[in-house]
Order: sequence, then structure tokens, then C-alpha cells
Amino acid sequence: MKKREIVRGAKDFLPPEAAKKRQFENQAVETFIRWGYREVITPTFEYLEVIETGAGEEIREELFLLQDQDGRLLALRPEMTIPIARIVSTKFRDNAGVLRLFYNANIFRHALPQMGRYQEFYQLGVELIGASGAMADAEVIALAAEVLKQQELEFKISLNHIGIFNHLLLQSGLPESVREGIKRLVLKKDLVGLNRMLADLPLAPELRRVLLDMPLQHGGPEVLERLEPVREIPRVKEAINELSEVYDCLASYGIQDDVVIDLGILRGFDYYTGIVFEGYSPQLGYPLLGGGRYDNLLGKFGCPRVATGFAVGVERVLLALGQRNSTPREVMVVSGSDLQSVLKQARELREQGFIAEVDLSGENCTEKVVVKSRVSVR
Ligand code: AMP
Repeated sequence: MKKREIVRGAKDFLPPEAAKKRQFENQAVETFIRWGYREVITPTFEYLEVIETGAGEEIREELFLLQDQDGRLLALRPEMTIPIARIVSTKFRDNAGVLRLFYNANIFRHALPQMGRYQEFYQLGVELIGASGAMADAEVIALAAEVLKQQELEFKISLNHIGIFNHLLLQSGLPESVREGIKRLVLKKDLVGLNRMLADLPLAPELRRVLLDMPLQHGGPEVLERLEPVREIPRVKEAINELSEVYDCLASYGIQDDVVIDLGILRGFDYYTGIVFEGYSPQLGYPLLGGGRYDNLLGKFGCPRVATGFAVGVERVLLALGQRNSTPREVMVVSGSDLQSVLKQARELREQGFIAEVDLSGENCTEKVVVKSRVSVR
């Protein structure tokens, strides 16, 4: 019965789940505000050029496209970092200092729907603009961890520096299309394919070994010792040092135990330039959140500014929370023969913080006002 079908990969939130979503969003938003972040709300769609300026033309296959009446192509936003880059480059051009922004938005991506993967989903996230250095990266990672901790979720944050992989590949002298192919295999965690591809390429043996080894390496700082054979490549060295610095900084936040260094984390978007990270929970086989440093994106919008940020997927957090019970709430049902008294009573109860429903059943009631209570899972 097509006329009652919901679009593939889209989702209805019925009251208990909508209540959990609202609660998570409220708690996260409150935390963002307390850490100094201010909200921005952007349109659901952007000109296609804006999205492609930020993410490159490859993003197009993931986009829902539409056309306005002037024939211009629009895209439903596939993430929020690019719309915020557009805002910063137009509305905050003169703000040379540090800018802390957050959002709570629905996101659209063409995707083969499966468990935890939707075509419309919700993200909460922050962008910290105008701050370079380990402290800024550590702040957004710590904030991401805080948001998950509030939900009492079990999680780990996997941390990497995209510069290690990118500069190793650049060093290899391979053409861009081949480098992209290698990156895609690592992103898909297709180690068999990676092995096969690297075997056929003219690479220095130690470089091949490190590239094959990196996706498997995760743990404490000792993981970085695996990069010893390539450590002296200047940009690689710089990236490793930055990664260590951020990891050390996370100790000051008291969250080093929640973080693992994972040299296989590359992230999907090409705009990342430095630290990258993803948050995982043992309940789910895919990330709950992701983020990183993107120092060149704002420059593409004519407003060069360094930046770092993250986004957490709301549906995935709800999935990880699983069947945790919604809290039952007491509901006051107010009925009676005198409408004014009934409404007055309901208002007073609401002012006292109760949920108060006016009884619409039309049942005959001889008393002016009667209040009954029932317990309901919201
Ligand atoms: P990304 O920047 O693509 O890593 O997205 C950040 C977060 O958004 C992910 O860690 C997920 O929690 C969530 N997310 C991304 N894509 C989807 C999707 N198709 N369905 C549901 N959640 C998603």
C-alpha cells in the first residue's frame, strides 16, 4: 500500500522515542552552551555550489538535489560544517577571534538504508573556529566525550592525525587517483583489497609495510612506535607530534582512558587537515560521532580561518542507549461540570510542574472539578 509507506531510510519517532531524542538533545545543547558555544540555525537546503565548494564534486552522489524556480540546483544539506563555513565567511568575516558555534539539525544523504544508517538523520555538533593547536582539538574531543558520558554510555574515542596517512601517500609519488583508491580501501576497512592493491604498486618496502599495518594499529601511545620507519619524513613527523600533543592534553581533561590512538581512522570528508576522531560504543558496529580539524575549508569560501569540530548522530546514540526504559510520568486528568474551574485547576497544576490533561470524554460529572492521576510512559 504505497500511499501509507514511509520513504526508505527515513524514520518516524513515536512519543517514547521522540521523548528520548528530545531529552538527549536538550542535555547536549545545555552542555554546549555551558562550554561557551552559541547556536546557529541554517536553511535545510544550500546551493549545490556551496556544498561542492566545501566537499568537492564527489559529494554529489550522496546528495538529494532539487531545483528552484530560477533553475538553480539546490542540495539538502549533507552535513553542517559547510553551511557554517558559509555563514562564517559572510556574517563573521570581521570576527578575527575565536568563534564557538553549535547546531542541532537534520541531515540528508543518499545511502543504502540499513540498521543505524538513514537518509535523513539528526546531528548535534560544534565548530570551534579561529583556534589552532592541541588545546582547541582537545576541547572539542573532550566535549564530545562529555556529551556521551552524560548518557552514561560506554564508549571509546578513536584518535588519529590525517596528515600521517596523507603525507605518507604524497611521499609515495603515486598519482592522485591511486592515492584516492588506497584511501577508499582503508575507509572501507577492506584490508584484502588494500593488500592486493599495494602489492602491485611501485612502493618502497617499508612504506608498503606501514600502509598495510596502519589500519590495524590501535591502542595507547605505543602504537606510534609502529611508525618508526617513516618517522623522519618531515610532514609525517609533524603530524605524529601533533597527535601526541593532543593525546597528552586529553590527560588534563581526565579522559585519556576513553581515547585510543587508531591509525586506521581517516574520515569520509576530504576537508580534514589534522586531528581526526570517531566515537564508538560496544553496542554498535558503526561510529556514534566523528570530527576533526579542517584548516583549509574556510579559505575555500574566501575567509581563511583554522577550525575544528565534531558531530554526533542522534539516532545512533538512541540505538546505543537501546531499550533503556523511559521514565514513567504522573499525569493529572482534570474533569468536572464547571469548565472555568476545570481550566483553572489544570493551569495551576501545570504551573506546579505537573502534566495536566483536560478530560474531553464528555462523561457526566456532578462535581465542579475532579482530579484523577494516572501513570504513563511518555
Ligand atoms: P560523519 O561526519 O559522516 O562521520 O557523521 C557524523 C555522525 O553522524 C556519525 O558518526 C553518525 O553518528 C552520524 N551519521 C552519519 N551518517 C549517518 C546516516 N546515514 N544515518 C544515521 N546517522 C549517520
